Amino acid sequence: MNAPSVLNLNKSRSERQNLIHQLSGVEESIQAILLSVIAGCELSETDAVKLFGATGAELDGLIATADYIRKQAVGNQASFVITRNINFTNVCYMGCKFCGFAKRKEDADAELLSLDEIADRAEEAWNRGATEVCIQGGLHPNIPGTHYRDILKAVKARVPGIHIHAFSPFEIWFGAAKSKLSIAEFIQDLMDHGLDSMPGTAAEILDVEIRQQLTRDKLTTEQWIEIITTAHDLGLPTTATIMYGHIDGPEHWAAHINTIRGIQKQTGGFTEFVPLGFVHYESPLYQNTPNVRPGPTVEENIRMHAIARLMLNGWIDNIQASWVKLGPDYAQQMLQSGANDLGGTLMNESISRSSGGKHGQEIVPEDMVRMISAAGREPVRRNTLYRVVEEYEQPVDARIDSVISHSETLIPRSINDAQLIATSGRVAL
Ligand code: SF4
Repeated sequence: MNAPSVLNLNKSRSERQNLIHQLSGVEESIQAILLSVIAGCELSETDAVKLFGATGAELDGLIATADYIRKQAVGNQASFVITRNINFTNVCYMGCKFCGFAKRKEDADAELLSLDEIADRAEEAWNRGATEVCIQGGLHPNIPGTHYRDILKAVKARVPGIHIHAFSPFEIWFGAAKSKLSIAEFIQDLMDHGLDSMPGTAAEILDVEIRQQLTRDKLTTEQWIEIITTAHDLGLPTTATIMYGHIDGPEHWAAHINTIRGIQKQTGGFTEFVPLGFVHYESPLYQNTPNVRPGPTVEENIRMHAIARLMLNGWIDNIQASWVKLGPDYAQQMLQSGANDLGGTLMNESISRSSGGKHGQEIVPEDMVRMISAAGREPVRRNTLYRVVEEYEQPVDARIDSVISHSETLIPRSINDAQLIATSGRVAL
């Protein structure tokens, strides 16, 4: 690493002074919390709950502090990855109340992709520039435990170089039980057959009472932590997520992020933290249960990304804004509120769509570049493990209004209508 130049050190000092000056207008107790984070202290769970109530000048101070801490941690680059989601089956009987994705076997739109179809999709993604496939599915009662290994073998046989990011902790629990293997034995077997990393989904809110209300038989908090830490101990990286804005509140959010931070201190295995706002439109939880909120508000989304940046500072560098959940314009706003990544281009995203998500199936890399540039950041394409694989010139039309109107004309866009389009000498998805 190059030593910081005198110019950069002066710039950094002046940014810090400007921030401290801005915070002088913030209510005293919130100001004290933010100043202690700037001074390098760890944000406690109790103080995080207070920050979740920030409004007006206090919210502006929180955003400015998160943006400052983001810059200190990861600089000005903001990233995305070219990936394809392959949801290999939507058949599932677990009955999670928030889920609009699961079908019964006899439903007309029930789906179970063959191994060949999964490999076809992976190969198509690879040929269109993807470095990763993200493979997840429902817990189909008829698939054997070996099916997970067979998926990996089929994909790696066809596309040896692609990174397979696959199988939620719930699927790991299901596959291990079906295989009569311990969690560690099952994960190790998957790693031996090509599993490169795991999504930290199925976390929802890591709180016993909230989880019991979300589903009857959902993986418990303890089981989620056991599976994730076992993966980390075996050398398998995972992401970390939170699904918020339903029957939960600030205390649950702060406790959840604190749990994630505790795991990271122990294992160092998380690559990123991804806040996922609850998508309520087609969700049975919203439709059938009183007092369920219709997802987080815009301000709650901002606070979540900003507070995650502060709480995880020094432990998890990458905070992702999910454009699938937020929409492109709000995702872009999160890049100025602590986030440094926009996630994947996600051909065929179907889980949020099944719950009524309105934000399409795919964003082309050019849109990602424009969105990042319009947020005042340097766009880079990364791989799953956050290594930069491509840097971009800043486009001249990177104004926010041009990005939003451009995105509206391109979304939704599916793999079927986005055949290999050569743009400016580069293949676009
Ligand atoms: S969230 Fe996953 S495990 Fe729960 S019902 Fe939906 S597909 Fe099944």
